[in-house]
Amino acid sequence: SKEDVQAFLKKNAFVLFTVGAVIVGIILGFALRPYRMSYREVKYFSFPGEVLMRMLQMLVLPLLVSSLITGMAALDSKASGKMGMRAVIYYMTTTIIAVFIGIIIVLIIHPGKGSKDEFGKQQTIEQVSPADAFLDLIRNMFPPNLVQACTQQFKTKYGRRKVHVTVTVNETLFNSTNGTQEVMEITREEVIPVPGHVNGVNALGLVVFSMCFGLIIGNMKEQGQLLRDFFDSLNEAIMSLVAIIMWYAPIGILFLIAGKIVEMDDLTQMGGQLGMYTITVIIGLLIHGVLILPMLYFVITRQNPFIFIAGLLQALVTALGTSSSSATLPVTFKCLEENNKIDKRITRFVLPVGATINMDGTALYEALAAIFIAQVNNMEMNFGQIITISITATAASIGAAGIPQAGLVTMVIVLTSVGLPTDDITLIIAVDWFLDRLRTTTNVLGDSIGAGIVEFLSRHELRSKDVEMGNSVLEE
Ligand code: ASP
Repeated sequence: SKEDVQAFLKKNAFVLFTVGAVIVGIILGFALRPYRMSYREVKYFSFPGEVLMRMLQMLVLPLLVSSLITGMAALDSKASGKMGMRAVIYYMTTTIIAVFIGIIIVLIIHPGKGSKDEFGKQQTIEQVSPADAFLDLIRNMFPPNLVQACTQQFKTKYGRRKVHVTVTVNETLFNSTNGTQEVMEITREEVIPVPGHVNGVNALGLVVFSMCFGLIIGNMKEQGQLLRDFFDSLNEAIMSLVAIIMWYAPIGILFLIAGKIVEMDDLTQMGGQLGMYTITVIIGLLIHGVLILPMLYFVITRQNPFIFIAGLLQALVTALGTSSSSATLPVTFKCLEENNKIDKRITRFVLPVGATINMDGTALYEALAAIFIAQVNNMEMNFGQIITISITATAASIGAAGIPQAGLVTMVIVLTSVGLPTDDITLIIAVDWFLDRLRTTTNVLGDSIGAGIVEFLSRHELRSKDVEMGNSVLEE
């Protein structure tokens, strides 16, 4: 009927717009590259994208807190304990698989050739011991001041670290006195944000607190009703905001992608080791995202994984555009609940945790990059060192926040643990903006497939809870 067609168009309009936005963004970006915009012009040009980033990030804090609290409160502690176990087992298994894929691929392809000559000059990056990093991970789980955890960075030895990267760019300046154009070398300093924090929000700490808090108010009798209703209603309100922002998302994504392409360094140096490295990462992520995860989904649920992934398309494209799994979180929610009809009791609880700690793409990347750096330095890693890399890469992916290039920073831990020079992170910085987008997409895919699998495995608990509550308060 007519309504069906309208509904179909309305539902798929988002997807069409978003995919269209990526394509137009890429074309526009390459079309504008010859004009060699200045740093300032690029910033103006990508402004609509920056606004999207800010809108999405704005929702992360209320969404994370309200969804986790209502998610936990909707289940009794036994059911949530079981589901929690399943989620944790899924996270650990897939992360470890990802790390192994990364290691095997980089050992087979061997992109590093034992020379640093073709890379530019390097900067100094501070050392961090794995023990310090580990303790900081635990520290971040328990923010001493909750209000501060929402508004500013929780300062720890590790948390205070910022990586300063000096980037040299050529700016074309117009000389007004004699009317000529001059190319000037300008050095600007970029600061890569602190891991474990999303725009100054200590996400990990809030996840831990919200889970405990939700569990408690779920177990309270009438006294807890006010709080349960409050967070439930907050969650609904935020999700309605997400729906509005999603109409703007394609425009934002278009400019985010176009702006990045305009700004990126020339691809001339991509021929050598860096190019091989990039290809190796892409192959690794593809094996994990297109082969392993869908296979796992199929083996467990016996349903077509690619139909499931099709429902996620908009979230994946948003991840590609924003390179932040936290900023993508609102969209991931929408896709899973509306397109894939995943039970809200699952998404509310699995997605925020996943976006914060489950990063398959990042884990794969960190292990692969560490071994690549060893190869560039002509250092053979022995078996014990490879095991150390797997463990620290897993930890580093848990510690990395879902923000752009967080993985690059937490890699310091991996490198330090096997005595590799941390300064060599700068060797791969030129391609990181691009690889970051791909691993973020893999991260979001991993979280979403996890939600699908946990829902399937928890169907009995969900059903018996429905029956107990007289056919579900949460069905909506
Ligand atoms: N940008 C990634 C994410 O948000 C984290 C990383 O840098 O690997 O998932």
